[in-house]
Amino acid sequence: MKKINFSAGPAILPASVLKQASAAVENLDGSGLSILEISHRSDAFDAVLLEAEQLVRELLNVGDDYGVLFLSGGASSQFFMTAMNLLNPEETAGYLDTGSWSAKAIKEAKHFGKVNVIASSKESNYNHIPREYTIPEGLKYVHLTSNNTIFGTQFKEWPETDLPLVADMSSDILSRRIPLEKFGIIYAGAQKNLGPAGATLVIVRKDLLGKVQRNLPSMLDYRVHIDGGSTFNTPPVYPIYVMMLTLRWIKEQGGLEGMEKLNERKAKLLYDEIDRNPKFRGTVADEQSRSLMNVTFVCTDEADTDAFLAAAEAAGCDGITGHRSVGGFRASIYNSMPYEGVETLVRVMREFE
Ligand SMILES: *Cc1c(COP(=O)(O)O)cnc(C)c1O
Repeated sequence: MKKINFSAGPAILPASVLKQASAAVENLDGSGLSILEISHRSDAFDAVLLEAEQLVRELLNVGDDYGVLFLSGGASSQFFMTAMNLLNPEETAGYLDTGSWSAKAIKEAKHFGKVNVIASSKESNYNHIPREYTIPEGLKYVHLTSNNTIFGTQFKEWPETDLPLVADMSSDILSRRIPLEKFGIIYAGAQKNLGPAGATLVIVRKDLLGKVQRNLPSMLDYRVHIDGGSTFNTPPVYPIYVMMLTLRWIKEQGGLEGMEKLNERKAKLLYDEIDRNPKFRGTVADEQSRSLMNVTFVCTDEADTDAFLAAAEAAGCDGITGHRSVGGFRASIYNSMPYEGVETLVRVMREFE
């Protein structure tokens, strides 16, 4: 039986993308070569890279003042690369601490400059997005994690500031419309909303670069990758190919407007059931902070936990166990999760009641 994949990442991909991706492993578009064996400097891959970049630009409305890069090293490498490329040792960046990934970004930025944690929800085990805070003067940028994959919270309003935002959007990239002009850098590991693990999408405003005094190793300098069109070295060819297929699929779904509508419908269906069903309780009480991507909840009676997990698994719902730092359950309902997948989980919850 094909399972419904609620895993937090690597995560579900559209069935049509998996089909095309597996055909390309044998024979890429009738070329007689596998996508796994073509040169990263071939015309065929040039076309893939170009289409992927153009789709990112089109979907997110990214102009020529930004570079669009496909790098390796995961979102975790962006934790240091962002600070390394933007922040001088005596300069300060503001960080919003809304979960484990934010905390990791803070730790890495401190290698390169000063960090001012403007707001944090750590004291309440990151169960909400802080809304009351002031952004001090003189910061270089403000970093945030737009969606907190582990704790199930998400920014719905962006910080009110003219400073460039640097955002880790690993788990909600292309899931909704965003005001691109507010962002200096957006980065996202592919394996939640874009494709398989191995590629990282980075969108960077070019005028922010070249202002740090330190010497940057070539591989860690955004300008080198912009100049090299993401082929300074061998990029993750196959993950980029699958990403391109997923980007095409997102466009077919009506772009970000279409994704946003579908994601809102799916999340409403599940949160409504969590709030209605006495057997369950959401771990994010603050409604405004609730993530549309990762829905975290627990059994009201902890003793029900194993039985509900077994019921969900029997219905084909895979990967709903919560992260160890929150417990209970986490249903990740990224872009590629069909509405019917969420309906199945909700049906299991009702039957369990
Ligand atoms: C998964 C995740 C990461 C880590 O990504 P890697 O590609 O494994 O380095 C970072 N930030 C967020 C928000 C994530 O969900």
